[in-house]
Amino acid sequence: MIVLVLNSGSSSLKFQVIDTDLEAIEKSADKTLAQGVIERIGSEALITLRAEGNPPSRSTAPLRDHRAALDKVLRWLVSPDSKVPGVASIGDISAVGHRVVHGGEKFTKSVAIDDAVVDQIEDCIELAPLHNPANLKGIYAAREILGQGVPQVAVFDTSFHSTMPDTSYLYAIPYQLYVRHKVRRYGFHGTSHRYVAYRYRILTEKSYDDTNIITVHLGNGCSACAIQKGSSINTSMGLTPLEGLVMGTRGGNIDPSILEFLHHKEGLSLDQLDTLLNKQSGLLGVSGLTNDMRDLLEEERLHQDRRARLAIDIFCQRVKFYLGAYMAQMNGADAVVFTGGIGENSPEVRERICKDLDVLGIAIDKKKNKATVGRKEGDISSEKAKVRVWVLPTNEELLIARDTVRCVKDAPRRW
Ligand code: ADP
Repeated sequence: MIVLVLNSGSSSLKFQVIDTDLEAIEKSADKTLAQGVIERIGSEALITLRAEGNPPSRSTAPLRDHRAALDKVLRWLVSPDSKVPGVASIGDISAVGHRVVHGGEKFTKSVAIDDAVVDQIEDCIELAPLHNPANLKGIYAAREILGQGVPQVAVFDTSFHSTMPDTSYLYAIPYQLYVRHKVRRYGFHGTSHRYVAYRYRILTEKSYDDTNIITVHLGNGCSACAIQKGSSINTSMGLTPLEGLVMGTRGGNIDPSILEFLHHKEGLSLDQLDTLLNKQSGLLGVSGLTNDMRDLLEEERLHQDRRARLAIDIFCQRVKFYLGAYMAQMNGADAVVFTGGIGENSPEVRERICKDLDVLGIAIDKKKNKATVGRKEGDISSEKAKVRVWVLPTNEELLIARDTVRCVKDAPRRW
């Protein structure tokens, strides 16, 4: 069946069209037919559309809202010019899978969307005021255009982490705040951590219960996850995606008192502090140059830029801390898995993170490390290392499509 996967942001709509069903999932025979992104929705939008095996087409058009953007995508999909096989009319789309960032404590797995589910996703808006309203726009648009007859499924970034014990998800603040407002660690990137854990199991032929690994997603957003017996038992992001590792523009962990201190010293309001933490910190904040790791590495290499080096070093050191912390929490792990744009493509960052970690049993093979880039999967550990280090490119869209099929067909999922 043909599944449309939607990831809608505040002014963007990313999509993939994936041909899959229960048999294809079993045989890993799913096929991506098309993908694209519409950016700057609300003004003159930038539209990039690509049928698999064809060059991308780029254009602009005034698109008022997400409904207009989805309409544009669907018109393109069904037009013969798009060269997308198997989609001749809108009726060929059997289901829609939506990425939803925050499922709160309510959603511990993917669900078919009905009115009650929409209400519950709306209830989670206060936990993710930037993300959930954007995700809902995609859901409303798809319901409006495709009608109630086409099943829709919500796949949550948080649900993989719903297995965390309370010792991991509770903050050491007054317990009543958890009871009253559900202030706790939820974690994000769950679909990515879950996908690479699944790939690890396939490649190593391990059972679910024998999967004891640390997965490290390093992209614009970054998070680590401790996976024991196949389930998430801790993760670095918290109530919001701000906690934990250093990211492109987010600083991750800081002393919370810094906020009050800056409020007094610089007269910053809560809104300004929020912007500082979310948009001006991390790699960008330390380097003063860019949030882009590739460009920072270039600056460091070509110009020996001191602050570029510092930003990368702080980034790598923070990942080391989490590897050590999770090794301790799990009493050891069998493997570390790198994924995300940086984790998949930067042998240099992987090497700097894994340097001098013999004490944890981690050592990588420089040659294998260098050779594993560009969406290649591989074990990059040195022969004798006790803990294996893998690079496994993530594929959140594929997992969303597969969950959509399983929800529509009422089939169980274990991973
Ligand atoms: P997002 O979290 O938005 O999905 P990605 O997973 O695509 O982002 O990761 C983006 C990050 O990956 C950027 O910092 C980018 O510089 C980095 N990146 C991509 N390719 C490379 C590379 N070859 N070397 C180093 N960093 C890279």
